Amino acid sequence: MSGQLAVIGLGPGDARYLTREAAEVLAAAQALYGYGPYLDRVPPRAGQVCHASDNREEGARAQAALAHAGRGARVAVVSGGDPGVFAMAAAVCEAIEAGPPSWRALDLLVVPGVTAMLAVAARIGAPLGHDFCTLSLSDNLKPWELIERRLDAAASAGFVIALYNPVSRSRPWQLGAALERLRRHLPPSTPVVFGRAVARPEEQVTVTTLDAADASQADMATLVIVGSRATRVIARSGRSPLVYTPRAAAEVNA
Ligand code: SAH
Repeated sequence: MSGQLAVIGLGPGDARYLTREAAEVLAAAQALYGYGPYLDRVPPRAGQVCHASDNREEGARAQAALAHAGRGARVAVVSGGDPGVFAMAAAVCEAIEAGPPSWRALDLLVVPGVTAMLAVAARIGAPLGHDFCTLSLSDNLKPWELIERRLDAAASAGFVIALYNPVSRSRPWQLGAALERLRRHLPPSTPVVFGRAVARPEEQVTVTTLDAADASQADMATLVIVGSRATRVIARSGRSPLVYTPRAAAEVNA
């Protein structure tokens, strides 16, 4: 019997964001692997075994899931959002590259999901309507100096920037330092969006400026979007403001 490993994106929270492909592949899996809170989102099915692990154990989780699929089972690994964005699909590829040759013969399926920055952007208008880039502020797997270099490059090149992993218990200062870094390049009035727990019951989306942005507003479930010089805010009476980045950039130094 040949096993299968599916790496599945669950979307940002609410089950309405789960794709039909993801639901079908989840339903067919014999075993599920993932970070506990993500597995809790998957409806339980008789006969399906769940292996929950901590969010710092991605490498070990990928190896365990591959070994399980190697024994002939249909195995699924779940990620929040999209599995290819700072998540399990890359961990699984790393494990396949470093692992036994038999893992390369496995049937591997990556099922995309709605990533957090798209869910946050959709709530507020179209902040990612022109060129943008994405950074994880976690310096667990890369040096902080590299993050600073990329923030400098992205802001000075006119990209809107979506920041994943802005803070955690072990990384309390990184978002404050990143905002300070971006203030060197961008005007104080640059729009900043804090999207917290989007598509979950405790969702909170706030719009502020780079000048006023306060890192303590963010937690582990927050995605921060920092606009470019071109990003605009449209005030609306009785409704929350729209944040958008126009499709056209006229100036070379936009
Ligand atoms: N694979 C995930 C990202 C994993 S990194 C995805 O594609 O969305 C974890 C980070 O994602 C969090 O620190 C936060 O920045 C962001 N995030 C995940 N879910 C979120 C949500 N519902 N609302 C806002 N940000 C979220």
